[in-house]
Amino acid sequence: MYDLLFVGGTLVTGNKNQNIISNGILGVSGSKIKLIGEVPKDIDDLPQAKKIVELNSEIVMPGIINTHCHAADSLFRGLVENMSLEDWLQDVWKAEKAILTPETTLLGSYLGLAENLLAGVTTVVDMFWYPFETAQASIDLGMRICTGGIFIDFPGVGDRTHDQYTYEASDFCSKFQNSEIVFPAVMPHATYTVKPEHLKDAKKIADDYNAVFSTHAAETRFEQNDIKERYGRSVIRHLAHLKILDEKAILAHCVHLDDYEIDLLKERRSIIAHNPLSNLKLGSGIAPISNLLERKINVTVGTDGAISGNDLDMWLSMRLAATLPKGDLMKPDIVTAEEVIGMVSLNAAEALGKANEIGSLEVGKQADLIIISTESIHAVPLFDPITHLVYSTAKSDVKQVFVGGRQCVKDGAIVNINMDDILSEVRKLRDPILKSLE
Ligand SMILES: [Zn+2]
Repeated sequence: MYDLLFVGGTLVTGNKNQNIISNGILGVSGSKIKLIGEVPKDIDDLPQAKKIVELNSEIVMPGIINTHCHAADSLFRGLVENMSLEDWLQDVWKAEKAILTPETTLLGSYLGLAENLLAGVTTVVDMFWYPFETAQASIDLGMRICTGGIFIDFPGVGDRTHDQYTYEASDFCSKFQNSEIVFPAVMPHATYTVKPEHLKDAKKIADDYNAVFSTHAAETRFEQNDIKERYGRSVIRHLAHLKILDEKAILAHCVHLDDYEIDLLKERRSIIAHNPLSNLKLGSGIAPISNLLERKINVTVGTDGAISGNDLDMWLSMRLAATLPKGDLMKPDIVTAEEVIGMVSLNAAEALGKANEIGSLEVGKQADLIIISTESIHAVPLFDPITHLVYSTAKSDVKQVFVGGRQCVKDGAIVNINMDDILSEVRKLRDPILKSLE
């Protein structure tokens, strides 16, 4: 007997072959998928289950994986506008330093992670000042998270030293190294904010714990010139020189790359977290993802924080990932919808080293799945579920979300915590946040 049985609907499995099963059936026992196939012709052949979820025209797909976010920055959404990354960061850091404590970080994390979860994101890679609080918010919401200690070389939020960051990063990895829901990472901010020795310290901790290593890289032309001036090497060359580039490195942005850097990324099998909305809004540019994909480099998709892109909407990020290269290069047949589905599911799971556990609807994997309504005006008639998902689906179409077989979003609402309480606490921060830039 299954604990949970989904009967009907279209299963977009997201597996290697991107199989689609119309009128599908999916059985869950405990946290894992134990059955996947077509609804039997004879209703008497339907397996037994403690709970049956009947579906009609809905699409079921793997939970989306957002590979670059700063969830708690949702506290500052809309505060800093119309600036390039370098000027923008000065204001962001000023506001963050004035407002953020472990407590306000927890609140902001609930806010940003809940927005992700409601949109069908079941795993988030998140870089932020207080990783234990970010992880706690994620655990409370019932999601998976990949996060961990940050590194930055100036007195940022909490005025911590390099030794303190080092301790925190190790402590976080040690605490969560066997967790199924918190995937430890080490997250130095960037090559322009963390000196080479400190980047190497961060990489050593990541290697010691077999953790993900993630940093911002090659986001702007200014950054590339700055690093060339300081070290005589461009950003990706610099990371390669420091022996930091490998298959555990998730590099956020990679907008400005030359051919040699692309070769390096290919050779070291590093992963790109592509954040098209943030790159557009900060005027950073358009990442050359069709070129990267052609070279079989693993490109995944992120939202970045709501203080840069103002919106934690992976559906919009997916649409931009698919359409920007087409318009930019005037080639309508590059970066297909299938590729983009792979970028937010199985390829992203591979980036986290978790492809055996999450990222597709397959027997033996965790039951991380989302149910998308196709009742809206923009979904009728529906010819192809994949193009519908990438080009037409809105985050409000996501109605149910399950993580490890446990329901986290029901009828478009968060299940596990009272978001009204969180929102009323966040509203109290509005005035202090506004004053933080004075
Ligand atoms: Zn970022």
